[in-house]
Amino acid sequence: MSTSNPMALLIERINTLQDICTESGITNMIDLPQIVVVGGQSCGKSSVLENIVGNDFLPRGVGIVTRRPLILQLIYSKDEYVRFNHSDSTFTDYELVRQEILAETARLIKNKHDVSHVPITLKMYSPHVMTLTLVDLPGLVKVPTNDQPKNIVTRVEEICKRYIVNKNAIIIAVSAATSDIASSDALQLAKTVDPGYERTLGVLTKVDLMDVGTDVVDVLAGRVLSLKLGFIPVVNRGQKDVKQKKSISDAVVDEQRFFETHRAYRRNKAYCGTAYLRTKLTSILYEHIRHTLPELQERVNALIARTQAELDELGVFDLTPKEHVLRTINEITKKFAELLSGTAEHGEELCGGARLSYTMHQSFAAFINNLNALHNMRNDHVRTVMLNASGSSSTLFFSQRAFEMLAKQSIALFKPHVLKLVTVIFTEMVRMMHSVVNTRFARLNDKISCALVDLFKRNSENTTMLVGALLEWNMEYISTRHPDFVRLDELSKIGESKPMEKAPNVKAFDKLPNVLRLDKEISDSEGAEINLVKSLVVSYFDVNRKILLDQVPKAIMCNLVMKSAQQMQEHLFRAVYETEGIEKLCEEDGSIEELRERLKRNLKAMRHAHDLMCSL
Ligand code: GDP
Ligand code: MG
Repeated sequence: MSTSNPMALLIERINTLQDICTESGITNMIDLPQIVVVGGQSCGKSSVLENIVGNDFLPRGVGIVTRRPLILQLIYSKDEYVRFNHSDSTFTDYELVRQEILAETARLIKNKHDVSHVPITLKMYSPHVMTLTLVDLPGLVKVPTNDQPKNIVTRVEEICKRYIVNKNAIIIAVSAATSDIASSDALQLAKTVDPGYERTLGVLTKVDLMDVGTDVVDVLAGRVLSLKLGFIPVVNRGQKDVKQKKSISDAVVDEQRFFETHRAYRRNKAYCGTAYLRTKLTSILYEHIRHTLPELQERVNALIARTQAELDELGVFDLTPKEHVLRTINEITKKFAELLSGTAEHGEELCGGARLSYTMHQSFAAFINNLNALHNMRNDHVRTVMLNASGSSSTLFFSQRAFEMLAKQSIALFKPHVLKLVTVIFTEMVRMMHSVVNTRFARLNDKISCALVDLFKRNSENTTMLVGALLEWNMEYISTRHPDFVRLDELSKIGESKPMEKAPNVKAFDKLPNVLRLDKEISDSEGAEINLVKSLVVSYFDVNRKILLDQVPKAIMCNLVMKSAQQMQEHLFRAVYETEGIEKLCEEDGSIEELRERLKRNLKAMRHAHDLMCSL
């Protein structure tokens, strides 16, 4: 398509748009329809296509010359050259392009009268075209000749249908003006996929070869067939012109003269010939573009917004390193506090403070509530402790010391879990911290993370000491004064209520063995005492369970969580801000700088593209 045609401005704008898209890595946004040429054998399809493109490159002649679909991708480019999908060579001589098409056709099809659906794809780069795909197809056959395969008629039809069935394709139905238009193969085939002739453009070739006194005025006027896009008469180069190597531009001039001087056409000469065909096609494309423009603009708008957001995310680089670190410290402190208090934005899952609370008040509490005071406290063990505690004095009632020893032993069950809770909360804090430390400077992130882990570790060690002490004083000083501890009057009931099952087994007296263990059998009275002391242990254990469930989370919240949050800003200030080499911390990764520049360029290009679209 030469730039001299009336829609040159459109081509120029579309091409600028394409340029912008290519440069900024946006995938080709303008999806132009494919232009597919169909028609009977030797009616002039390839000639029409060449005239549209403005270049001699297609093999033309008698019989089926085009025997494989030729997908012609016009690609707007500064340089002019041709490439095939099937070869690595670059062509600049159109005579060689033509030879390559013939050679490639022959490479696949051995019988020179046969056809194939396998296309040849040719990319034509040129500053004079807009990026667009045209398809040249083998000619439709009415009756197979002796050399042709019997099924050639349907085979060619099937091949052609593949390309014209696409709703987005524009069908150029070529018919020779010298034959009957009403029975044109091309128009009949087009009707099968485009019944209303909405996207079929009729082209009448060989108008120059019509008998003197006949013309196609009736067809042009739509009196034979009604096509929405109409009919255009053309005169292509004949056999003789081709032999004499007549150029397309000369041919177009002669063609124009033909219509201007022809009695039947001169009145409507503006609607005749190759020049008008080009104009018509361009305006069809223009309509198509206008139709898709609103959606396109929307897409570009969305793209602009997304790129802008991406750019914002990268941050501006207008702060000094010190200012940046200071701002970061404040932001992280604030975000961490928000995460803790639950004012931060969150999705479906628990996060921050809620996770801490769940850990302590749900998982930890459930676990502690499940602990059994009498875990590992078998009766014979209790008896041994009781007897050992009373020493040589024979007691009627167990001693306070036995109870204390057993109580201490049961409370010790809490210890590992309480200490574990501190480390679990510490881990949660580190997790929360990582979710708020995400500046674009890797080194700064690292420095801040390390400093905060130090702070959390320090506070976590203190907390461990505190809860350790809490456990210890409850273990070391067994006091039964707590109001929840079982009352004495209830005690006797407990002792009575559970008599021991078995009577003592009388054994012959013997000397003591080296290691003295009591017999398995426990007397009724011993059993009652054991039950009693166990009940006391359980009661004391429950008292301590309540205390720990109440006090341990408070200790952790106060000494680890809140304290860390409060100290965070000051700690970071000291550990990050007031250190050597703060500039080094804020050195931007080279790739980020590159990315920012690229996004800026893209954004500018897209705004330009948007403006261009508004002007279309
Ligand atoms: P295709 O088989 O449909 O691709 O037809 P071609 O483009 O190869 O043309 C077949 C033959 O008809 C060639 O020799 C062309 O030179 C000739 N031809 C095509 N169109 C015209 C035309 O409008 N006028 C004249 N005189 N010859 C034409
Ligand atoms: Mg052809």
